[in-house]
Amino acid sequence: ERLVDEQSVLEMDGSLALYTFDNYDYEKREVRITPHTPCPVLAGVRAITPEHAEKGLGMVRFYEPIEFHVVFKTNQAGDLHYIPARISDMKPNTSYIVTGVVSSPPTIIPGGHVFVKISDGTGEVTLAAYEPTGSFRRVVQNLVVGDEVLAYGAVKLKPSGPTLNLEKLAVTRLARVTVKAAPPCDICGRRMKSMGQGKGYRCEKCGIKRPDKEPLVVDLERKVSVGVYEVCVSARRHLAMPLKLKSSLRHYQHGQC
Ligand SMILES: [Zn+2]
Repeated sequence: ERLVDEQSVLEMDGSLALYTFDNYDYEKREVRITPHTPCPVLAGVRAITPEHAEKGLGMVRFYEPIEFHVVFKTNQAGDLHYIPARISDMKPNTSYIVTGVVSSPPTIIPGGHVFVKISDGTGEVTLAAYEPTGSFRRVVQNLVVGDEVLAYGAVKLKPSGPTLNLEKLAVTRLARVTVKAAPPCDICGRRMKSMGQGKGYRCEKCGIKRPDKEPLVVDLERKVSVGVYEVCVSARRHLAMPLKLKSSLRHYQHGQC
Protein backbone atom coordinates (compact mmCIF):
# COMPACT_ATOMS: atom_id res chain seq x y z
CA GLU A 1 0.00 0.00 0.00
CA ARG A 2 1.40 3.36 -1.11
CA LEU A 3 0.36 6.41 0.89
CA VAL A 4 -0.95 8.56 -1.89
CA ASP A 5 -3.81 11.01 -1.80
CA GLU A 6 -6.42 9.76 -4.27
CA GLN A 7 -8.03 13.19 -4.64
CA SER A 8 -4.70 14.72 -5.72
CA VAL A 9 -4.35 12.04 -8.41
CA LEU A 10 -7.80 12.93 -9.72
CA GLU A 11 -6.90 16.62 -9.76
CA MET A 12 -3.63 15.96 -11.54
CA ASP A 13 -5.39 13.74 -14.08
CA GLY A 14 -7.97 16.43 -14.68
CA SER A 15 -5.52 19.24 -15.21
CA LEU A 16 -2.95 17.26 -17.24
CA ALA A 17 -5.42 15.07 -19.15
CA LEU A 18 -3.93 16.06 -22.50
CA TYR A 19 -0.36 15.18 -21.56
CA THR A 20 -0.53 12.30 -19.09
CA PHE A 21 -2.44 9.03 -19.20
CA ASP A 22 -3.54 5.99 -17.22
CA ASN A 23 -3.37 7.88 -13.94
CA TYR A 24 -6.71 6.63 -12.76
CA ASP A 25 -9.23 3.95 -13.68
CA TYR A 26 -12.56 5.76 -13.47
CA GLU A 27 -14.49 2.56 -14.13
CA LYS A 28 -12.90 0.72 -11.19
CA ARG A 29 -12.15 3.86 -9.13
CA GLU A 30 -8.56 2.90 -8.75
CA VAL A 31 -5.31 4.89 -8.62
CA ARG A 32 -3.06 3.62 -11.41
CA ILE A 33 0.16 5.57 -10.80
CA THR A 34 1.24 3.29 -7.95
CA PRO A 35 2.54 -0.23 -8.49
CA HIS A 36 0.54 -3.11 -7.04
CA THR A 37 3.61 -5.20 -6.34
CA PRO A 38 5.98 -5.04 -3.39
CA CYS A 39 8.84 -3.03 -4.91
CA PRO A 40 10.71 0.13 -3.94
CA VAL A 41 8.86 2.25 -6.54
CA LEU A 42 6.37 4.62 -4.95
CA ALA A 43 4.64 5.93 -8.05
CA GLY A 44 5.06 6.75 -11.72
CA VAL A 45 3.25 9.27 -13.89
CA ARG A 46 3.05 8.38 -17.59
CA ALA A 47 3.28 11.39 -19.85
CA ILE A 48 4.08 12.37 -23.41
CA THR A 49 6.93 14.72 -22.36
CA PRO A 50 9.47 14.62 -19.49
CA GLU A 51 8.17 17.99 -18.31
CA HIS A 52 4.60 16.77 -17.97
CA ALA A 53 5.74 13.62 -16.16
CA GLU A 54 7.55 15.74 -13.57
CA LYS A 55 4.77 18.27 -13.34
CA GLY A 56 2.24 15.49 -12.83
CA LEU A 57 4.29 13.82 -10.13
CA GLY A 58 4.68 17.18 -8.39
CA MET A 59 0.91 17.60 -8.21
CA VAL A 60 0.35 14.34 -6.35
CA ARG A 61 0.32 14.41 -2.54
CA PHE A 62 2.20 11.56 -0.88
CA TYR A 63 2.12 10.76 2.82
CA GLU A 64 5.49 9.12 2.81
CA PRO A 65 8.96 10.41 1.97
CA ILE A 66 10.22 10.42 -1.63
CA GLU A 67 13.89 9.57 -1.87
CA PHE A 68 14.42 10.62 -5.49
CA HIS A 69 12.69 10.64 -8.84
CA VAL A 70 13.85 9.75 -12.34
CA VAL A 71 12.38 10.37 -15.80
CA PHE A 72 12.40 7.31 -18.05
CA LYS A 73 11.91 7.29 -21.79
CA THR A 74 10.13 4.02 -22.58
CA ASN A 75 8.40 2.18 -25.38
CA GLN A 76 5.28 1.89 -23.24
CA ALA A 77 1.93 2.83 -24.72
CA GLY A 78 3.37 2.82 -28.24
CA ASP A 79 1.37 -0.05 -29.77
CA LEU A 80 4.74 -1.18 -31.11
CA HIS A 81 4.19 -4.78 -30.10
CA TYR A 82 1.37 -5.45 -32.57
CA ILE A 83 2.18 -7.26 -35.80
CA PRO A 84 -0.41 -7.22 -38.61
CA ALA A 85 -1.10 -10.83 -39.53
CA ARG A 86 -3.52 -13.30 -41.04
CA ILE A 87 -5.00 -15.79 -38.61
CA SER A 88 -3.16 -18.78 -40.12
CA ASP A 89 0.19 -17.01 -39.61
CA MET A 90 -0.32 -16.22 -35.92
CA LYS A 91 2.03 -17.80 -33.36
CA PRO A 92 1.38 -18.17 -29.63
CA ASN A 93 2.75 -15.56 -27.22
CA THR A 94 2.91 -12.86 -29.88
CA SER A 95 0.75 -9.76 -30.19
CA TYR A 96 -1.15 -9.10 -33.38
CA ILE A 97 -3.57 -6.85 -35.21
CA VAL A 98 -5.92 -9.04 -37.18
CA THR A 99 -9.01 -8.34 -39.24
CA GLY A 100 -11.82 -10.82 -39.36
CA VAL A 101 -15.52 -11.49 -39.51
CA VAL A 102 -17.43 -12.81 -36.50
CA SER A 103 -18.04 -16.48 -37.30
CA SER A 104 -20.04 -17.67 -34.29
CA PRO A 105 -22.12 -15.95 -31.62
CA PRO A 106 -20.35 -14.70 -28.45
CA THR A 107 -20.37 -16.91 -25.38
CA ILE A 108 -20.16 -15.85 -21.74
CA ILE A 109 -18.78 -18.25 -19.16
CA PRO A 110 -19.13 -18.15 -15.36
CA GLY A 111 -16.84 -15.48 -14.01
CA GLY A 112 -17.97 -13.06 -16.69
CA HIS A 113 -15.42 -13.88 -19.38
CA VAL A 114 -16.66 -13.27 -22.92
CA PHE A 115 -15.46 -15.08 -26.04
CA VAL A 116 -16.23 -14.72 -29.73
CA LYS A 117 -14.76 -16.40 -32.79
CA ILE A 118 -13.61 -14.57 -35.90
CA SER A 119 -12.45 -15.89 -39.23
CA ASP A 120 -10.47 -14.26 -42.02
CA GLY A 121 -10.63 -17.01 -44.62
CA THR A 122 -7.25 -18.45 -43.56
CA GLY A 123 -8.41 -19.69 -40.16
CA GLU A 124 -10.40 -19.03 -37.05
CA VAL A 125 -9.31 -17.51 -33.74
CA THR A 126 -11.19 -16.96 -30.49
CA LEU A 127 -11.18 -13.40 -29.16
CA ALA A 128 -11.24 -13.26 -25.36
CA ALA A 129 -12.42 -10.40 -23.15
CA TYR A 130 -11.78 -11.50 -19.59
CA GLU A 131 -13.66 -10.18 -16.57
CA PRO A 132 -11.00 -7.59 -15.56
CA THR A 133 -11.39 -5.82 -18.93
CA GLY A 134 -14.57 -4.28 -17.50
CA SER A 135 -17.34 -2.73 -19.56
CA PHE A 136 -15.31 -3.44 -22.72
CA ARG A 137 -16.88 -6.91 -22.56
CA ARG A 138 -20.25 -5.45 -23.48
CA VAL A 139 -18.92 -4.63 -26.94
CA VAL A 140 -17.73 -8.20 -27.51
CA GLN A 141 -20.90 -9.64 -26.03
CA ASN A 142 -23.06 -7.69 -28.47
CA LEU A 143 -21.27 -8.74 -31.65
CA VAL A 144 -23.18 -10.93 -34.08
CA VAL A 145 -22.11 -13.27 -36.87
CA GLY A 146 -21.07 -11.19 -39.88
CA ASP A 147 -19.71 -8.18 -37.97
CA GLU A 148 -16.29 -7.05 -39.22
CA VAL A 149 -13.65 -6.25 -36.63
CA LEU A 150 -10.00 -5.36 -36.19
CA ALA A 151 -8.68 -7.09 -33.08
CA TYR A 152 -5.56 -6.17 -31.09
CA GLY A 153 -4.01 -8.49 -28.55
CA ALA A 154 -1.70 -11.36 -27.65
CA VAL A 155 -2.32 -14.89 -28.90
CA LYS A 156 -2.25 -17.73 -26.38
CA LEU A 157 -2.62 -21.40 -27.15
CA LYS A 158 -5.59 -22.76 -25.19
CA PRO A 159 -7.00 -26.31 -25.14
CA SER A 160 -9.88 -24.91 -27.19
CA GLY A 161 -7.48 -23.53 -29.81
CA PRO A 162 -5.64 -20.25 -30.39
CA THR A 163 -7.10 -17.40 -28.33
CA LEU A 164 -6.35 -13.71 -28.73
CA ASN A 165 -6.59 -11.82 -25.44
CA LEU A 166 -8.19 -8.58 -26.53
CA GLU A 167 -6.54 -5.27 -25.68
CA LYS A 168 -8.43 -3.18 -28.23
CA LEU A 169 -11.16 -3.86 -30.72
CA ALA A 170 -12.24 -1.79 -33.70
CA VAL A 171 -15.71 -2.61 -34.94
CA THR A 172 -15.48 -1.67 -38.61
CA ARG A 173 -18.78 -2.91 -40.02
CA LEU A 174 -22.00 -4.08 -38.44
CA ALA A 175 -24.05 -6.91 -39.88
CA ARG A 176 -27.79 -6.37 -40.30
CA VAL A 177 -29.93 -8.07 -37.72
CA THR A 178 -33.50 -8.44 -38.90
CA VAL A 179 -36.75 -10.00 -37.78
CA LYS A 180 -39.77 -10.86 -39.87
CA ALA A 181 -43.07 -9.33 -38.92
CA ALA A 182 -46.64 -9.55 -40.21
CA PRO A 183 -47.39 -6.83 -42.79
CA PRO A 184 -50.29 -4.33 -42.44
CA CYS A 185 -53.50 -4.92 -44.36
CA ASP A 186 -53.65 -2.87 -47.60
CA ILE A 187 -57.30 -2.02 -46.99
CA CYS A 188 -57.67 -1.25 -43.28
CA GLY A 189 -54.05 -0.94 -42.19
CA ARG A 190 -54.35 -3.42 -39.34
CA ARG A 191 -51.63 -5.96 -38.80
CA MET A 192 -52.47 -9.14 -40.68
CA LYS A 193 -52.33 -12.71 -39.32
CA SER A 194 -50.07 -15.37 -40.73
CA MET A 195 -51.71 -18.31 -42.49
CA GLY A 196 -48.60 -20.43 -41.89
CA GLN A 197 -45.02 -20.32 -43.03
CA GLY A 198 -44.89 -19.26 -46.70
CA LYS A 199 -48.68 -19.31 -46.96
CA GLY A 200 -49.26 -15.58 -46.79
CA TYR A 201 -51.48 -13.50 -44.52
CA ARG A 202 -55.14 -12.76 -43.86
CA CYS A 203 -56.88 -9.78 -42.31
CA GLU A 204 -59.23 -10.65 -39.48
CA LYS A 205 -61.16 -7.41 -39.86
CA CYS A 206 -61.68 -7.32 -43.65
CA GLY A 207 -61.66 -11.09 -44.00
CA ILE A 208 -59.39 -10.99 -47.05
CA LYS A 209 -56.78 -13.62 -47.67
CA ARG A 210 -53.48 -12.75 -49.31
CA PRO A 211 -51.42 -15.91 -50.00
CA ASP A 212 -49.01 -13.71 -52.01
CA LYS A 213 -48.24 -11.34 -49.13
CA GLU A 214 -44.62 -11.40 -47.91
CA PRO A 215 -43.59 -10.67 -44.32
CA LEU A 216 -42.05 -7.31 -43.44
CA VAL A 217 -38.31 -7.43 -42.75
CA VAL A 218 -37.53 -5.15 -39.81
CA ASP A 219 -34.00 -4.09 -38.85
CA LEU A 220 -33.25 -4.51 -35.17
CA GLU A 221 -31.23 -1.82 -33.46
CA ARG A 222 -27.72 -3.04 -32.70
CA LYS A 223 -26.34 -2.65 -29.17
CA VAL A 224 -22.86 -1.90 -30.46
CA SER A 225 -21.68 0.86 -32.82
CA VAL A 226 -18.87 1.11 -35.32
CA GLY A 227 -15.86 2.48 -33.44
CA VAL A 228 -12.71 1.64 -31.53
CA TYR A 229 -12.95 0.22 -28.02
CA GLU A 230 -10.31 -0.52 -25.38
CA VAL A 231 -10.11 -2.47 -22.15
CA CYS A 232 -10.41 -0.45 -18.94
CA VAL A 233 -7.29 1.34 -17.66
CA SER A 234 -6.44 -1.22 -14.98
CA ALA A 235 -6.53 -4.06 -17.53
CA ARG A 236 -4.32 -2.31 -20.08
CA ARG A 237 -0.97 -3.87 -20.86
CA HIS A 238 1.80 -1.31 -20.60
CA LEU A 239 2.77 -1.54 -24.29
CA ALA A 240 -0.74 -0.80 -25.53
CA MET A 241 -1.52 2.77 -26.51
CA PRO A 242 -4.57 4.28 -24.82
CA LEU A 243 -7.01 5.55 -27.45
CA LYS A 244 -6.86 9.09 -26.10
CA LEU A 245 -3.09 9.20 -26.56
CA LYS A 246 -3.33 9.45 -30.34
CA SER A 247 -5.17 12.75 -30.12
CA SER A 248 -2.95 13.91 -27.23
CA LEU A 249 0.17 13.40 -29.33
CA ARG A 250 -1.42 15.09 -32.34
CA HIS A 251 -2.49 18.01 -30.20
CA TYR A 252 0.97 18.34 -28.65
CA GLN A 253 2.87 18.06 -31.95
CA HIS A 254 0.55 20.59 -33.50
CA GLY A 255 1.14 23.01 -30.63
CA GLN A 256 4.91 22.67 -31.04
CA CYS A 257 5.08 23.73 -34.69
ZN1 LIG B 1 -57.99 -5.30 -43.28
